[in-house]
Amino acid sequence: SSASDQEKLRPPPPHVLIFPMPVQGHLNPMLKLAHLLCLAEFHVTFIISDFNQHRLLQHTAASAAFSRCPGFQFRTFPDGLPDDHPRSGHRAMEFVSSVANVTVPLFKKMMIKENFLASAARRPVTCFVADGLLSFAPEFCEENGIPFIFFGTATTSYLWAIFRFPQLLEAQEIPLGGKSMDELIESMPGMEGIIRRRDLPGFVERAQAVVFNTCEDLEGQIVAEIHKHVPRVFSIGPIHHQVKHRLAEKKAESSIITASLWAEDRSCMDWLDAQPPRSVIYVSFGSLALVTREQVLEFLHGLLDSSQRFLWVVRPDSVTGSDGNDPVLTELMERIKGKGLLVEWAPQDKVLNHPAVGGFLTHSGWNSTLESIAAGVPMVCWPYFADQTTNSRFVSEVWKVGLDIKDTCDRKIIEEAIRDLMDVRKDEFMERAENLAKVVKRTVSKGGSSYNNLDGLIQYIKSLVV
Ligand code: UDP
Repeated sequence: SSASDQEKLRPPPPHVLIFPMPVQGHLNPMLKLAHLLCLAEFHVTFIISDFNQHRLLQHTAASAAFSRCPGFQFRTFPDGLPDDHPRSGHRAMEFVSSVANVTVPLFKKMMIKENFLASAARRPVTCFVADGLLSFAPEFCEENGIPFIFFGTATTSYLWAIFRFPQLLEAQEIPLGGKSMDELIESMPGMEGIIRRRDLPGFVERAQAVVFNTCEDLEGQIVAEIHKHVPRVFSIGPIHHQVKHRLAEKKAESSIITASLWAEDRSCMDWLDAQPPRSVIYVSFGSLALVTREQVLEFLHGLLDSSQRFLWVVRPDSVTGSDGNDPVLTELMERIKGKGLLVEWAPQDKVLNHPAVGGFLTHSGWNSTLESIAAGVPMVCWPYFADQTTNSRFVSEVWKVGLDIKDTCDRKIIEEAIRDLMDVRKDEFMERAENLAKVVKRTVSKGGSSYNNLDGLIQYIKSLVV
Protein backbone atom coordinates (compact mmCIF):
# COMPACT_ATOMS: atom_id res chain seq x y z
CA SER A 1 0.00 0.00 0.00
CA SER A 2 1.06 3.56 -0.56
CA ALA A 3 2.60 5.74 2.08
CA SER A 4 -0.59 7.75 2.45
CA ASP A 5 -2.64 4.56 3.00
CA GLN A 6 -0.25 3.54 5.73
CA GLU A 7 -0.60 6.99 7.19
CA LYS A 8 -4.35 6.45 7.36
CA LEU A 9 -3.97 3.06 9.01
CA ARG A 10 -1.63 4.31 11.68
CA PRO A 11 -3.55 5.05 14.90
CA PRO A 12 -3.55 8.74 15.76
CA PRO A 13 -0.78 9.84 18.16
CA PRO A 14 -1.40 10.92 21.76
CA HIS A 15 -3.19 14.25 22.07
CA VAL A 16 -1.78 16.44 24.81
CA LEU A 17 -3.69 19.40 26.21
CA ILE A 18 -1.47 22.19 27.57
CA PHE A 19 -2.88 25.07 29.60
CA PRO A 20 -0.46 27.74 30.92
CA MET A 21 -1.35 30.83 32.89
CA PRO A 22 -1.39 33.38 30.07
CA VAL A 23 1.67 35.36 31.19
CA GLN A 24 5.04 35.64 29.47
CA GLY A 25 7.07 33.58 31.94
CA HIS A 26 4.59 30.68 31.77
CA LEU A 27 3.85 30.81 28.05
CA ASN A 28 7.56 30.55 27.27
CA PRO A 29 8.40 27.20 28.87
CA MET A 30 5.00 25.61 28.18
CA LEU A 31 5.10 26.56 24.52
CA LYS A 32 8.55 24.98 24.39
CA LEU A 33 7.14 21.80 25.93
CA ALA A 34 4.47 21.89 23.19
CA HIS A 35 7.22 22.21 20.60
CA LEU A 36 9.13 19.25 22.07
CA LEU A 37 5.99 17.09 22.00
CA CYS A 38 5.31 18.13 18.40
CA LEU A 39 8.84 17.02 17.53
CA ALA A 40 7.82 13.63 18.99
CA GLU A 41 4.90 13.80 16.50
CA PHE A 42 2.21 14.18 19.12
CA HIS A 43 -0.93 16.23 18.69
CA VAL A 44 -0.98 19.25 20.98
CA THR A 45 -3.78 21.65 21.86
CA PHE A 46 -2.52 24.80 23.53
CA ILE A 47 -4.89 27.03 25.52
CA ILE A 48 -4.21 30.76 25.30
CA SER A 49 -6.13 34.01 25.75
CA ASP A 50 -7.31 35.82 22.61
CA PHE A 51 -5.39 38.85 23.79
CA ASN A 52 -2.07 37.03 24.06
CA GLN A 53 -2.47 34.93 20.95
CA HIS A 54 -2.89 38.14 19.02
CA ARG A 55 0.28 39.61 20.56
CA LEU A 56 2.26 36.45 20.04
CA LEU A 57 1.40 36.19 16.36
CA GLN A 58 1.95 39.89 15.86
CA HIS A 59 5.40 40.08 17.47
CA THR A 60 7.07 36.79 16.59
CA ALA A 61 7.64 34.49 13.68
CA ALA A 62 5.52 31.99 15.58
CA SER A 63 3.03 31.53 12.74
CA ALA A 64 5.74 30.29 10.40
CA ALA A 65 7.18 28.02 13.09
CA PHE A 66 3.77 26.52 13.91
CA SER A 67 3.14 25.77 10.27
CA ARG A 68 6.02 23.31 10.51
CA CYS A 69 4.33 21.63 13.49
CA PRO A 70 1.17 20.20 11.89
CA GLY A 71 0.10 18.53 15.16
CA PHE A 72 -0.11 21.88 16.95
CA GLN A 73 -3.31 23.86 17.45
CA PHE A 74 -4.36 26.81 19.59
CA ARG A 75 -7.71 27.12 21.34
CA THR A 76 -8.37 30.66 22.46
CA PHE A 77 -10.55 32.09 25.21
CA PRO A 78 -11.23 35.58 26.53
CA ASP A 79 -9.31 36.44 29.70
CA GLY A 80 -12.16 38.68 30.81
CA LEU A 81 -10.18 41.94 30.96
CA PRO A 82 -10.29 45.04 28.75
CA ASP A 83 -7.37 45.36 26.30
CA ASP A 84 -5.87 48.29 28.18
CA HIS A 85 -5.56 46.41 31.49
CA PRO A 86 -1.83 46.15 32.39
CA ARG A 87 -2.00 42.45 33.46
CA SER A 88 1.19 43.04 35.45
CA GLY A 89 2.70 44.48 38.64
CA HIS A 90 0.24 45.00 41.45
CA ARG A 91 -2.63 44.29 39.05
CA ALA A 92 -1.35 40.84 38.09
CA MET A 93 -3.61 39.27 40.74
CA GLU A 94 -6.71 40.73 39.04
CA PHE A 95 -5.53 38.95 35.95
CA VAL A 96 -5.12 35.65 37.78
CA SER A 97 -8.64 36.00 39.28
CA SER A 98 -10.13 36.85 35.91
CA VAL A 99 -8.63 33.74 34.35
CA ALA A 100 -10.14 31.67 37.17
CA ASN A 101 -13.56 33.33 36.96
CA VAL A 102 -13.95 33.86 33.23
CA THR A 103 -11.57 31.64 31.24
CA VAL A 104 -11.73 28.46 33.29
CA PRO A 105 -15.56 28.04 33.25
CA LEU A 106 -15.61 28.62 29.46
CA PHE A 107 -12.79 26.14 29.03
CA LYS A 108 -14.57 23.46 31.10
CA LYS A 109 -17.81 23.94 29.19
CA MET A 110 -16.02 23.65 25.86
CA MET A 111 -14.19 20.48 26.92
CA ILE A 112 -17.43 18.69 27.82
CA LYS A 113 -19.35 19.99 24.81
CA GLU A 114 -16.62 19.00 22.37
CA ASN A 115 -16.04 15.57 23.88
CA PHE A 116 -12.57 16.45 25.14
CA LEU A 117 -11.49 17.81 21.77
CA ALA A 118 -12.02 14.62 19.82
CA SER A 119 -12.26 15.10 16.04
CA ALA A 120 -11.90 13.01 12.90
CA ALA A 121 -8.12 13.43 13.04
CA ARG A 122 -7.58 13.62 16.80
CA ARG A 123 -8.23 11.45 19.80
CA PRO A 124 -9.93 13.00 22.79
CA VAL A 125 -7.18 14.43 24.97
CA THR A 126 -4.81 11.80 26.32
CA CYS A 127 -3.65 13.88 29.27
CA PHE A 128 -3.86 17.40 30.62
CA VAL A 129 -0.60 19.24 31.29
CA ALA A 130 -1.70 22.11 33.53
CA ASP A 131 0.20 25.07 34.86
CA GLY A 132 0.85 24.64 38.58
CA LEU A 133 -1.15 27.81 39.20
CA LEU A 134 -4.39 26.37 37.81
CA SER A 135 -5.79 24.79 40.94
CA PHE A 136 -9.00 23.64 39.22
CA ALA A 137 -7.05 21.09 37.18
CA PRO A 138 -6.74 18.08 39.55
CA GLU A 139 -10.44 17.98 40.38
CA PHE A 140 -11.46 18.52 36.77
CA CYS A 141 -9.18 15.67 35.67
CA GLU A 142 -10.40 13.34 38.42
CA GLU A 143 -14.06 14.00 37.58
CA ASN A 144 -13.48 13.31 33.91
CA GLY A 145 -10.96 10.49 34.10
CA ILE A 146 -8.15 12.40 32.39
CA PRO A 147 -4.56 11.86 33.58
CA PHE A 148 -3.32 15.08 35.15
CA ILE A 149 0.28 16.19 34.65
CA PHE A 150 1.45 19.09 36.76
CA PHE A 151 3.85 21.55 35.10
CA GLY A 152 5.98 23.67 37.43
CA THR A 153 7.19 26.92 35.90
CA ALA A 154 8.97 28.15 39.05
CA THR A 155 12.02 26.79 40.81
CA THR A 156 11.33 23.33 42.16
CA SER A 157 12.72 24.40 45.55
CA TYR A 158 10.16 27.17 45.75
CA LEU A 159 7.31 24.90 44.68
CA TRP A 160 8.44 22.43 47.31
CA ALA A 161 8.25 25.07 50.03
CA ILE A 162 4.67 25.86 48.96
CA PHE A 163 3.59 22.25 48.74
CA ARG A 164 4.91 21.47 52.19
CA PHE A 165 3.16 24.50 53.64
CA PRO A 166 0.23 22.53 55.11
CA GLN A 167 2.66 20.07 56.70
CA LEU A 168 4.76 22.92 58.05
CA LEU A 169 1.62 24.28 59.64
CA GLU A 170 0.60 20.92 61.01
CA ALA A 171 4.00 20.44 62.55
CA GLN A 172 3.63 23.96 63.94
CA GLU A 173 6.83 24.91 62.27
CA ILE A 174 5.11 28.00 61.03
CA PRO A 175 4.45 29.99 64.20
CA LEU A 176 0.75 30.53 64.12
CA GLY A 177 -0.07 29.50 67.66
CA GLY A 178 -0.75 25.77 67.31
CA LYS A 179 -4.20 25.95 65.72
CA SER A 180 -5.69 22.86 64.09
CA MET A 181 -5.58 22.01 60.39
CA ASP A 182 -9.37 22.44 60.24
CA GLU A 183 -9.30 26.00 61.44
CA LEU A 184 -10.22 28.67 58.92
CA ILE A 185 -7.51 31.03 57.80
CA GLU A 186 -8.74 34.59 58.22
CA SER A 187 -5.68 36.40 56.99
CA MET A 188 -5.91 35.44 53.32
CA PRO A 189 -7.31 38.46 51.44
CA GLY A 190 -10.20 37.51 49.20
CA MET A 191 -10.55 34.07 50.77
CA GLU A 192 -11.51 34.96 54.33
CA GLY A 193 -13.60 32.28 55.97
CA ILE A 194 -13.25 29.84 53.06
CA ILE A 195 -9.83 28.30 53.23
CA ARG A 196 -8.83 25.96 56.05
CA ARG A 197 -5.21 25.11 56.70
CA ARG A 198 -5.70 21.72 55.10
CA ASP A 199 -6.92 23.39 51.89
CA LEU A 200 -3.59 25.05 51.26
CA PRO A 201 -1.86 23.90 48.08
CA GLY A 202 -0.73 20.31 48.14
CA PHE A 203 -2.24 19.33 44.84
CA VAL A 204 1.00 18.24 43.26
CA GLU A 205 0.37 15.04 45.22
CA ARG A 206 -2.79 14.46 43.18
CA ALA A 207 -0.89 14.48 39.88
CA GLN A 208 -0.07 11.29 37.99
CA ALA A 209 3.12 12.96 36.89
CA VAL A 210 4.94 16.23 37.31
CA VAL A 211 7.16 18.03 34.85
CA PHE A 212 9.70 20.55 36.07
CA ASN A 213 11.67 23.11 34.10
CA THR A 214 14.80 22.35 36.07
CA CYS A 215 17.49 19.68 36.01
CA GLU A 216 19.03 17.26 38.47
CA ASP A 217 22.33 19.15 38.38
CA LEU A 218 20.63 22.28 39.71
CA GLU A 219 17.98 20.92 42.06
CA GLY A 220 18.54 17.15 42.28
CA GLN A 221 17.91 16.83 46.01
CA ILE A 222 14.58 18.64 45.95
CA VAL A 223 13.43 16.72 42.90
CA ALA A 224 14.21 13.50 44.80
CA GLU A 225 12.16 14.73 47.79
CA ILE A 226 9.17 15.41 45.57
CA HIS A 227 9.58 11.99 43.98
CA LYS A 228 8.72 10.46 47.36
CA HIS A 229 5.22 11.93 47.00
CA VAL A 230 4.45 11.60 43.29
CA PRO A 231 4.95 8.47 41.18
CA ARG A 232 6.55 10.16 38.17
CA VAL A 233 8.79 13.19 38.18
CA PHE A 234 10.33 14.43 34.96
CA SER A 235 12.78 17.28 35.26
CA ILE A 236 13.48 18.20 31.65
CA GLY A 237 15.03 21.67 31.87
CA PRO A 238 16.41 24.05 30.97
CA ILE A 239 13.59 23.56 28.53
CA HIS A 240 14.68 26.30 26.12
CA HIS A 241 17.98 24.51 25.80
CA GLN A 242 16.37 21.12 25.39
CA VAL A 243 14.45 22.51 22.38
CA LYS A 244 17.62 23.93 20.83
CA HIS A 245 19.37 20.61 21.28
CA ARG A 246 16.50 18.50 19.91
CA LEU A 247 16.11 20.75 16.88
CA ALA A 248 19.82 20.50 16.13
CA GLU A 249 19.74 16.74 16.63
CA LYS A 250 16.85 16.35 14.19
CA LYS A 251 18.55 18.81 11.84
CA ALA A 252 15.07 20.28 11.82
CA GLU A 253 14.45 23.26 9.62
CA SER A 254 12.11 24.86 12.07
CA SER A 255 13.61 27.37 14.43
CA ILE A 256 12.78 27.68 18.08
CA ILE A 257 9.25 29.00 18.69
CA THR A 258 9.44 32.20 20.66
CA ALA A 259 6.53 33.30 22.77
CA SER A 260 7.28 37.02 22.95
CA LEU A 261 4.32 39.21 23.87
CA TRP A 262 6.15 42.44 22.98
CA ALA A 263 7.97 43.40 19.79
CA GLU A 264 11.66 42.55 20.14
CA ASP A 265 13.98 45.47 19.39
CA ARG A 266 16.66 43.84 17.23
CA SER A 267 18.71 47.03 16.95
CA CYS A 268 20.36 46.19 20.27
CA MET A 269 22.11 43.25 18.56
CA ASP A 270 23.94 45.66 16.23
CA TRP A 271 24.86 47.82 19.18
CA LEU A 272 26.22 44.75 21.02
CA ASP A 273 28.29 43.81 17.95
CA ALA A 274 30.19 47.07 18.40
CA GLN A 275 31.07 46.45 22.10
CA PRO A 276 34.16 44.62 23.44
CA PRO A 277 33.80 41.00 24.65
CA ARG A 278 32.13 40.51 28.05
CA SER A 279 31.93 44.28 28.62
CA VAL A 280 28.16 44.85 28.77
CA ILE A 281 25.79 44.26 31.67
CA TYR A 282 22.29 43.39 30.47
CA VAL A 283 19.51 44.79 32.69
CA SER A 284 15.96 43.46 32.68
CA PHE A 285 13.28 42.86 35.28
CA GLY A 286 11.12 40.52 33.22
CA SER A 287 7.54 40.87 32.08
CA LEU A 288 5.61 41.60 35.27
CA ALA A 289 7.70 43.73 37.62
CA LEU A 290 6.94 47.43 37.96
CA VAL A 291 9.55 49.91 39.18
CA THR A 292 9.03 53.32 40.70
CA ARG A 293 10.60 56.49 39.37
CA GLU A 294 12.85 56.54 42.47
CA GLN A 295 14.05 53.00 41.81
CA VAL A 296 14.80 53.84 38.17
CA LEU A 297 16.94 56.73 39.38
CA GLU A 298 18.86 54.48 41.80
CA PHE A 299 19.53 51.95 39.05
CA LEU A 300 20.53 54.65 36.58
CA HIS A 301 23.02 56.21 38.99
CA GLY A 302 24.30 52.81 40.08
CA LEU A 303 24.88 51.80 36.47
CA LEU A 304 26.52 55.11 35.48
CA ASP A 305 28.74 55.17 38.60
CA SER A 306 29.90 51.59 37.96
CA SER A 307 31.47 52.79 34.67
CA GLN A 308 30.27 49.67 32.88
CA ARG A 309 28.45 49.59 29.55
CA PHE A 310 24.83 48.47 29.80
CA LEU A 311 21.83 47.41 27.78
CA TRP A 312 18.65 48.10 29.73
CA VAL A 313 15.13 46.88 29.00
CA VAL A 314 12.48 49.32 30.19
CA ARG A 315 9.09 47.90 29.25
CA PRO A 316 6.49 50.45 28.22
CA ASP A 317 4.34 51.38 31.23
CA SER A 318 6.63 49.59 33.67
CA VAL A 319 7.73 52.78 35.47
CA THR A 320 5.19 54.01 38.00
CA GLY A 321 4.93 57.57 39.24
CA SER A 322 6.36 59.15 36.11
CA ASP A 323 4.52 60.59 33.13
CA GLY A 324 7.39 60.15 30.68
CA ASN A 325 8.26 63.88 30.70
CA ASP A 326 10.15 63.83 33.95
CA PRO A 327 13.02 66.39 33.59
CA VAL A 328 15.38 64.50 35.95
CA LEU A 329 14.84 61.26 34.10
CA THR A 330 15.21 62.97 30.72
CA GLU A 331 18.52 64.50 31.76
CA LEU A 332 19.84 61.19 32.99
CA MET A 333 18.75 59.47 29.81
CA GLU A 334 20.82 62.08 27.94
CA ARG A 335 23.82 61.24 30.11
CA ILE A 336 23.70 57.54 29.32
CA LYS A 337 24.26 58.10 25.61
CA GLY A 338 27.34 56.20 24.52
CA LYS A 339 27.54 54.24 27.77
CA GLY A 340 24.29 52.43 27.55
CA LEU A 341 21.33 51.60 25.40
CA LEU A 342 17.67 51.51 26.40
CA VAL A 343 15.17 49.27 24.64
CA GLU A 344 11.54 48.46 25.35
CA TRP A 345 11.88 44.69 24.88
CA ALA A 346 14.91 42.62 23.82
CA PRO A 347 15.45 39.20 22.24
CA GLN A 348 16.72 38.15 25.66
CA ASP A 349 18.11 34.70 24.96
CA LYS A 350 20.04 36.02 21.95
CA VAL A 351 21.32 38.94 24.02
CA LEU A 352 22.54 36.66 26.82
CA ASN A 353 24.36 34.51 24.28
CA HIS A 354 26.07 37.49 22.63
CA PRO A 355 29.85 37.55 23.30
CA ALA A 356 29.73 41.23 24.38
CA VAL A 357 27.50 40.43 27.37
CA GLY A 358 29.35 39.73 30.62
CA GLY A 359 26.67 40.11 33.29
CA PHE A 360 22.93 40.25 33.91
CA LEU A 361 21.20 42.53 36.41
CA THR A 362 17.98 40.56 36.82
CA HIS A 363 14.80 40.29 38.90
CA SER A 364 15.60 36.55 39.13
CA GLY A 365 12.54 35.23 37.32
CA TRP A 366 13.04 31.52 36.80
CA ASN A 367 13.15 31.71 33.00
CA SER A 368 15.65 34.55 33.09
CA THR A 369 17.76 32.66 35.63
CA LEU A 370 17.84 29.50 33.51
CA GLU A 371 18.59 31.47 30.34
CA SER A 372 21.48 33.21 32.08
CA ILE A 373 22.84 29.96 33.53
CA ALA A 374 22.69 28.19 30.15
CA ALA A 375 24.45 31.16 28.49
CA GLY A 376 27.19 31.19 31.14
CA VAL A 377 26.41 34.76 32.24
CA PRO A 378 26.84 35.68 35.95
CA MET A 379 24.07 37.68 37.64
CA VAL A 380 23.36 40.52 40.03
CA CYS A 381 19.96 39.61 41.51
CA TRP A 382 17.29 42.08 42.55
CA PRO A 383 14.33 39.76 43.23
CA TYR A 384 10.86 41.24 42.96
CA PHE A 385 8.28 38.66 44.04
CA ALA A 386 7.07 35.00 44.01
CA ASP A 387 9.90 32.46 43.60
CA GLN A 388 12.43 35.17 42.77
CA THR A 389 13.66 35.62 46.34
CA THR A 390 14.39 31.88 46.51
CA ASN A 391 16.01 31.84 43.07
CA SER A 392 18.38 34.68 43.91
CA ARG A 393 19.50 32.87 47.05
CA PHE A 394 20.34 29.77 45.02
CA VAL A 395 22.22 31.88 42.47
CA SER A 396 24.43 33.43 45.12
CA GLU A 397 24.75 30.69 47.75
CA VAL A 398 24.28 27.35 46.01
CA TRP A 399 25.46 27.76 42.42
CA LYS A 400 27.61 30.78 43.30
CA VAL A 401 27.22 32.43 39.92
CA GLY A 402 26.16 35.84 41.12
CA LEU A 403 25.43 38.34 43.85
CA ASP A 404 22.10 38.76 45.60
CA ILE A 405 21.26 42.35 46.57
CA LYS A 406 17.74 41.24 47.60
CA ASP A 407 15.28 44.11 47.95
CA THR A 408 17.81 46.86 48.54
CA CYS A 409 17.61 49.55 45.91
CA ASP A 410 20.45 51.92 46.68
CA ARG A 411 22.75 53.39 44.05
CA LYS A 412 25.90 52.67 46.07
CA ILE A 413 25.02 49.01 46.61
CA ILE A 414 24.04 48.62 42.96
CA GLU A 415 27.27 50.25 41.79
CA GLU A 416 29.42 48.03 44.01
CA ALA A 417 27.63 44.83 43.04
CA ILE A 418 28.01 45.63 39.33
CA ARG A 419 31.68 46.50 39.76
CA ASP A 420 32.29 43.29 41.72
CA LEU A 421 30.60 41.19 39.09
CA MET A 422 31.97 42.90 35.98
CA ASP A 423 35.41 43.94 37.21
CA VAL A 424 36.82 43.12 40.67
CA ARG A 425 35.70 39.46 40.84
CA LYS A 426 35.02 39.02 37.14
CA ASP A 427 37.32 36.03 36.51
CA GLU A 428 36.00 34.07 39.44
CA PHE A 429 32.33 34.57 38.48
CA MET A 430 33.01 33.98 34.80
CA GLU A 431 34.76 30.70 35.46
CA ARG A 432 31.97 29.34 37.65
CA ALA A 433 29.26 30.53 35.24
CA GLU A 434 31.01 28.91 32.29
CA ASN A 435 31.37 25.64 34.19
CA LEU A 436 27.73 25.63 35.21
CA ALA A 437 26.70 26.34 31.61
CA LYS A 438 28.66 23.27 30.51
CA VAL A 439 26.91 21.14 33.12
CA VAL A 440 23.41 22.21 32.09
CA LYS A 441 24.25 21.83 28.42
CA ARG A 442 25.30 18.25 29.11
CA THR A 443 22.06 17.51 30.89
CA VAL A 444 19.98 18.16 27.74
CA SER A 445 22.40 16.26 25.48
CA LYS A 446 22.09 12.59 24.62
CA GLY A 447 22.57 10.53 27.79
CA GLY A 448 22.07 13.51 30.12
CA SER A 449 19.38 13.35 32.80
CA SER A 450 17.06 16.00 31.35
CA TYR A 451 17.41 14.40 27.92
CA ASN A 452 16.50 10.98 29.32
CA ASN A 453 13.66 12.43 31.37
CA LEU A 454 12.08 13.98 28.28
CA ASP A 455 12.24 10.59 26.56
CA GLY A 456 10.68 9.13 29.71
CA LEU A 457 7.86 11.69 29.61
CA ILE A 458 7.18 10.93 25.93
CA GLN A 459 7.06 7.19 26.67
CA TYR A 460 4.78 7.76 29.64
CA ILE A 461 2.30 9.79 27.56
CA LYS A 462 2.38 7.10 24.86
CA SER A 463 1.52 4.51 27.51
CA LEU A 464 -1.63 6.47 28.37
CA VAL A 465 -3.15 5.89 24.95
CA VAL A 466 -5.64 3.08 25.30
N1 UDP B 1 12.14 38.45 28.07
C1 UDP B 1 12.39 38.81 26.77
N2 UDP B 1 12.78 40.08 26.50
C2 UDP B 1 12.93 41.03 27.45
C3 UDP B 1 12.67 40.66 28.79
C4 UDP B 1 12.28 39.37 29.07
O1 UDP B 1 12.28 37.98 25.85
O2 UDP B 1 13.26 42.16 27.12
C5 UDP B 1 11.72 37.07 28.35
C6 UDP B 1 12.82 36.32 29.06
O3 UDP B 1 13.70 35.76 28.10
C7 UDP B 1 12.05 35.28 29.87
C8 UDP B 1 10.70 35.94 30.10
O4 UDP B 1 10.63 37.06 29.24
O5 UDP B 1 11.90 34.08 29.13
C9 UDP B 1 10.53 36.41 31.54
O6 UDP B 1 10.30 35.33 32.36
P1 UDP B 1 10.84 35.26 33.84
O7 UDP B 1 10.43 33.94 34.42
O8 UDP B 1 12.30 35.53 33.87
O9 UDP B 1 10.15 36.47 34.60
P2 UDP B 1 8.64 37.01 34.71
O10 UDP B 1 8.43 37.85 33.51
O11 UDP B 1 7.72 35.82 34.76
O12 UDP B 1 8.64 37.82 35.95
